[in-house]
Amino acid sequence: MSVFSRVPVRRRVTGVVAMALVPLMVAVGVAWAAVTDNMFPTESTGSSCLTGMGNSPCQTDNREVYFYMDSSGEYKLESEDRSMVNAAIDREYRPTDLAFHYDSSPVFEGSAETDIIYQEGSTGLPDSVAGRAWCNARGGALYNCDQQYIRIRGNGDYTYARVCHETGHAVGLQHGDYAIPMLSKTDSRLGCLVTPSTGHNDLGDNNRENIDGTY
Ligand SMILES: [Zn+2]
Repeated sequence: MSVFSRVPVRRRVTGVVAMALVPLMVAVGVAWAAVTDNMFPTESTGSSCLTGMGNSPCQTDNREVYFYMDSSGEYKLESEDRSMVNAAIDREYRPTDLAFHYDSSPVFEGSAETDIIYQEGSTGLPDSVAGRAWCNARGGALYNCDQQYIRIRGNGDYTYARVCHETGHAVGLQHGDYAIPMLSKTDSRLGCLVTPSTGHNDLGDNNRENIDGTY
C-alpha cells in the first residue's frame, strides 16, 4: 500500500487508517477496489500540472465540474456529438463523487474558468490520435488545472468510449503505463482509459475508485 502513500493525501488513505482494527486482508479488500493508482500525479508523470496539448492532463480543481460544448465556430459539436458527451457523463461520471454541471455561459479568463471545454476537430492532433485532453490554464494546487480542453475528431470518431476516455483524462486519470503499479495500456481493468479505447465504454471500478478517493 505504500505506493499510494504520497501527496496529495486522499480520503481513501483516511479510510484505511479508520479500519486499522479490521484484519488486514479484509481491510485491503474493502478499501482498495482499485487495482492501480492511475490518478495524476503518479510517480511516472511528475507532480506539477503542465499546460498545453501533449502533456499529461491534470486533476480538475474540485469536485464541482462545469463543462461546455463548443456550439459555434471551428470546433462546434454536432447534435450527435453532444448526445455522446451527455450520455457518457450521465452514465459513467454522474455515479461518481464528481458533480457535473453544464455551463451555458462559459468562462475563459480569470481564476474560475469553465472546467472542461469539449471540442470537435482535428487541428493539432497527430494522424494516429483520435482525441486529446490537455490543461489550458492551471489553478489551485500544483497538480490542479482550472480549465481543460477535450478535442475529438468528427465524422464518426466522436464515440461514447472516446468521450469517456478523454473525460477521464480531464479529471486526472492516466493510461496504464503511467499508473502505479504499471499496467499494460490495454488491460481491460482500466475501463475506458484503455488505449485505444474503442469498445471500452465503461468507466469501471478502478477509475471510479480513484476518482472517489480523490474528490
Ligand atoms: Zn488517452
